[in-house]
Amino acid sequence: MKMKTYHVNEEGYYGNFGGAYVPEILYKTVEDLRKAYLPILESEAFRKEYHALLKDYVGRPSPLYHARRLSEKYGCKLYLKREDLNHTGAHKINNAIGQILLARKMGKTRIIAETGAGQHGVATATVCALMNMPCRVYMGATDVARQHVNVERMKMLGAEVYPVESGNKTLKDATNEAIRDWCCHPQDTFYIIGSTVGPHPYPDMVARLQSVISREIKEQLLEKEGRNYPDYLMACVGGGSNAAGTIYHYIDDERVKIYLGEAGGHGIDSGETAATIHCGSLGIIHGSRTLVIQDEDGQIIEPYSISAGLDYPGIGPLHANLAQEHRATVMAVNDDEALRAAYELTRLEGIIPALESAHALGMLPRMKFRKEDVVVLTVSGRGDKDLDTYLAHRYDENLE
Ligand SMILES: *Cc1c(COP(=O)(O)O)cnc(C)c1O
Repeated sequence: MKMKTYHVNEEGYYGNFGGAYVPEILYKTVEDLRKAYLPILESEAFRKEYHALLKDYVGRPSPLYHARRLSEKYGCKLYLKREDLNHTGAHKINNAIGQILLARKMGKTRIIAETGAGQHGVATATVCALMNMPCRVYMGATDVARQHVNVERMKMLGAEVYPVESGNKTLKDATNEAIRDWCCHPQDTFYIIGSTVGPHPYPDMVARLQSVISREIKEQLLEKEGRNYPDYLMACVGGGSNAAGTIYHYIDDERVKIYLGEAGGHGIDSGETAATIHCGSLGIIHGSRTLVIQDEDGQIIEPYSISAGLDYPGIGPLHANLAQEHRATVMAVNDDEALRAAYELTRLEGIIPALESAHALGMLPRMKFRKEDVVVLTVSGRGDKDLDTYLAHRYDENLE
């Protein structure tokens, strides 16, 4: 009998979720990618180049830091996996490097991407500068206006930022426009998707490219704790890529409990939320069957979160399945809980986290640990980009 697995199956599904729902015109392109990605990712040449760049360009391995004051506060042995220390400030670069190497090996000559807050756009523009490839980043016009610094970073890196004026002019609309571009240029263009979303094989491909995170956790825990697994893994989820990377090598290891923090916004009953696992229903979004925040007619409801990187109306099919199968516990962490957690980490450990990452930290007050529990929480990015929001919501006086 085959062991139960939560990884993707041959057809590109995780239980009831996943698949590849793409327009006819993209069928061959997606099929070519599906056939190519595993042989390339597993080839010696790819692995050498990928790991050399992760080491010398990104600065990996990222540290596994024992947070003593936070551990004391929450009554456990808490380690932080420091993806905030990567080049460009978050985990997204791990994936962008992998995909651009894959694009080159497949003979593609042009890169497109979508971005919301601009973090994935910056990571993609960065690797395009590195590899000397033309890059167009689709971004909703609303986001272009409110993420000015990241727009300038992308332009300085040589990317073309294409403002999208349709719909609500945010991430969902930028993604639709990127897919439209892909339909027009399937031959020469590679679409670098920034999270574990989109048609198969993207969710599995992105999870594998981020799995360097859990591979390092295994080695680092063995060195520090004498055993290569924790009792708990914790991460935030937008589309799900930093969480997928954090849990990848532990997904089928039931000794390890998985806790995922999604963006509750103003609360899951407020109508202003991005908590897709709590509030979504089965639908199709951007080529994948998964949970979607939608109304009774299947119209996508605009999500809301204080954190632009979690403000997405879908969720990776892997995570939808982990939640449905009760392999992962998913908590909706509201704006105020995330803000409080960000100030707490800053004051106790001297680390200013990204607002997204603060949604993982925001689960801590609700956990029931034993003193000897080993907990690994991924800090997906650094908070420099969120300073304006932090200063507009001072929580340092409210810390007990
Ligand atoms: C984009 C982003 C996220 C959310 O994306 P996932 O694919 O769910 O990881 C989380 N943290 C940071 C710092 C990000 O930039």
